[in-house]
Amino acid sequence: MAASLSDPFSIDCLFDKERHMIFLEMMYQLLPSDYQPQEINHLTLAYFTLSSLDILGALDQSSKHNASHLASTYSALAILKMMGCELSLLDSKSIVISMKNLQKDNGSFMPIHFGAEADLRFVYCATAISYLLDDWTGVDKEKAKEYILNCQSYDGGFGLCPGLESHGGATYCAIASLRLMGYIEDNVLFEGASSSIINIPMLLDWMVQRQAEDGGFQGRINKPSDTCYAFWVGGVLKILGGNKFVSKEALHDSLLKCQSMYGGFSKFPGEFPELYHSYYSFCAFSILEEPGFDNLCVELGISKRAACGPSISL
Ligand SMILES: [Zn+2]
Repeated sequence: MAASLSDPFSIDCLFDKERHMIFLEMMYQLLPSDYQPQEINHLTLAYFTLSSLDILGALDQSSKHNASHLASTYSALAILKMMGCELSLLDSKSIVISMKNLQKDNGSFMPIHFGAEADLRFVYCATAISYLLDDWTGVDKEKAKEYILNCQSYDGGFGLCPGLESHGGATYCAIASLRLMGYIEDNVLFEGASSSIINIPMLLDWMVQRQAEDGGFQGRINKPSDTCYAFWVGGVLKILGGNKFVSKEALHDSLLKCQSMYGGFSKFPGEFPELYHSYYSFCAFSILEEPGFDNLCVELGISKRAACGPSISL
């Protein structure tokens, strides 16, 4: 006998496995707000959830519904790579088969299998995952390339989707993806910009103009500078070989204005630091060749040391 919906505390006579699976699935998909701040316990909570499903004999059934997310997959592989794990030991076939179903006819990628937007962010995740796994069978590279080229705007930058305003983060996703797929060379500015598949002079013009008067980079025209774009925009200039066009001292000084007395970096001066802007500020200092920083593999968003691990070479 099922519990009455009008009385959630009524007592059942039977163990309702279906209902527990739905409960566990919910815990797996989105942690309740009380659990969310307990980041230190997240893996333990995942253990409770997955092991419950395992004991219920439902781990396989559940994995049909548990949506992997391309950004989470990228983050997990980046961590494993950083820790020196041999990624060829993973079940990469499952990852690429799942990913193949996320690519749309226009070449873009969705991050999950249902009800999600598709744009350049997830094209980037798919290319970075394929590169890290050294397996491109989950990506139709030609279609992905065409989609990226369609995202280049009239002003030279890239929007997240075709026809959208140019944006520093979208431009990074476009250029890093093309680089990882081998469609553009490293230092393309020195290799002959005219032979590139994208309009490099216009792109370069758009990128260089994103350095604001205060020395920092803005993500879009008429926006204030923001520390994360020191990586998103500065990183693209690094990939293209256009670093010499950056006013490095001014950028360096503008980043330091966001350095917190508590450690870490904020988005704007005078704000509290948080992890996202701290990470991309550290990346920007690496690109600026600050002493004591490891070199960054810009297109993968991890250190060169990590990127040049056992299974790949850059
Ligand atoms: Zn930002």
